[in-house]
Amino acid sequence: MENRIDRIKKQLHSSSYKLTPQREATVRVLLEHEEDHLSAEDVYLLVKEKSPEIGLATVYRTLELLTELKIIDKINFGDGVSRYDLRKEGAAHFHHHLVCIECGAVAEIEDDLLEDVEEIVERDWKFKIMDHRLTFHGICVKCQQKKEDQEQSE
Ligand SMILES: [Zn+2]
Ligand SMILES: [Zn+2]
Ligand SMILES: [Zn+2]
Repeated sequence: MENRIDRIKKQLHSSSYKLTPQREATVRVLLEHEEDHLSAEDVYLLVKEKSPEIGLATVYRTLELLTELKIIDKINFGDGVSRYDLRKEGAAHFHHHLVCIECGAVAEIEDDLLEDVEEIVERDWKFKIMDHRLTFHGICVKCQQKKEDQEQSE
């Protein structure tokens, strides 16, 4: 955790920003909830638990700054809510998401898996790919199991 904070601090410094206590409180919440995909309000409520003096506007501005510096990514799973997600360290491209349409569970795929597709796009469309967002909508293994169990008991 401290190492990640140190590296994020350096990323901010290299763009002439400081890791102020308010920014650090926000970064800590994001690191502590790395598996979750928190909305700005979620982040704010968690920051407030530990640092009640920090306002929603400050948290918003910090999230915007971290997004701009590509430390976090803003994502939307189609429910109209912007969520924030830490970028995996050393990853050239953003990771993919599997969103369950039954229970809302979100899983992550860290492997890019798109090398072949990227090659075709760059070759046939003469398009230089910088990044991508890939969200699969479907039914998670738990919900599939639940359905099976229900069908068997009917
Ligand atoms: Zn994610
Ligand atoms: Zn890629
Ligand atoms: Zn599910």
